[in-house]
Amino acid sequence: MNIAVLPGDGIGPEIIAEAVKVLRRIAQDGFDFTFEFAPVGGAAYAASGHPLPEATLNLARSADAVLFGAVGDWKYDTLERHLRPEQAILGLRKNLGLFANLRPAVLYAELADASSLKPEVVSGLDILIVRELTGDIYFGQPRGRRTAPDGAFAGQPEAFDTMRYSRPEIERIAHVAFKAAQGRNKRLTSVDKANVLETFQFWKDIVTEIGQQYPDVQLDHMYVDNAAMQLVKAPKKFDVIVTGNMFGDILSDEASMLTGSIGMLPSASLNEKGQGLYEPSHGSAPDIAGQGIANPLATILSAAMMLRHSLKLPQQADRIESAVQKALAQGLRTPDIHAPGMQKVSTAQMGDAVVAALG
Ligand code: NAD
Repeated sequence: MNIAVLPGDGIGPEIIAEAVKVLRRIAQDGFDFTFEFAPVGGAAYAASGHPLPEATLNLARSADAVLFGAVGDWKYDTLERHLRPEQAILGLRKNLGLFANLRPAVLYAELADASSLKPEVVSGLDILIVRELTGDIYFGQPRGRRTAPDGAFAGQPEAFDTMRYSRPEIERIAHVAFKAAQGRNKRLTSVDKANVLETFQFWKDIVTEIGQQYPDVQLDHMYVDNAAMQLVKAPKKFDVIVTGNMFGDILSDEASMLTGSIGMLPSASLNEKGQGLYEPSHGSAPDIAGQGIANPLATILSAAMMLRHSLKLPQQADRIESAVQKALAQGLRTPDIHAPGMQKVSTAQMGDAVVAALG
């Protein structure tokens, strides 16, 4: 099993080192993992003048899965847009066809106090957001700036984007979401804005149609404004949420905050072949890079998702997730999740604790 490892910038190399440490420990139990490292983002720009060099892209294409750290640094903010580190992640999504973004938001009991919501609202929270990642208003053409051709402000400068979804795009993300729900509590909420948007009436019709192939999954529909409200009012009512690119972008960040720390949240982006890119939900945190204090758990949990979704080793994924829980139960905390009475540990000490908890 070939794993392309792209550490990237800022805390990327530090947190990736811990995830690889955990995977190497799993490999000792009889699994054949090959790790190939390549630069990406600012590190790749510094080395070769492009944030996503051809060699890195080819490595990612040929691998069974990609383990990605994070990209970005303020020192690259003045570069032309196509050379900025963040373009690497967009290039990988586009070139690998990564249309399905899976973001679990799980609140570990040990961290219940870290949430901004009351413990009784969030304790036991375990939801999964499935976000369509390559369509919608973020990619729809035409887009741009022009002189308004009509309407009350005709003749004035205006900007516009196009919201559009094709049937196959909706069908394939719906299948991913229904299958994910089958593996969980068999409830799926499709989030739309069908009351106002033609695109999302179409979305709702097609998700309903696909639902007939999954009679064991209970499907309901919710408008996005209500979903945003329910996520903070009664988040535990949800099991799996499926939605479009823009609504998913916003709702998944909202959901991530229910769990208290961005340092805990993994993500997976999958294509039709089941190949995936696995990365923490946070960025490169240049403000704490090089200090050995970053929380590596989101990346370690992303490696667990990689074992489950791309390498088809669900039991090993479960092992990693329970090892993370054990490390937290021992009272070990990196500074971002530290609370009085807990033991403050470094990035590497947290990685070591997870390895030790694997047994
Ligand atoms: P960020 O997620 O990097 O950091 C936000 C805050 O959270 C910072 O205070 C940081 O110290 C903290 N934080 C993040 N991850 C942490 C961890 N594992 N442990 C402890 N604390 C952690 O977001 P930002 O500061 O807005 O962006 C920094 C850079 O990251 C920018 O260049 C941005 O473009 C880039 N970025 C990259 C990705 C990606 O690679 N997918 C995603 C988001 C942002």
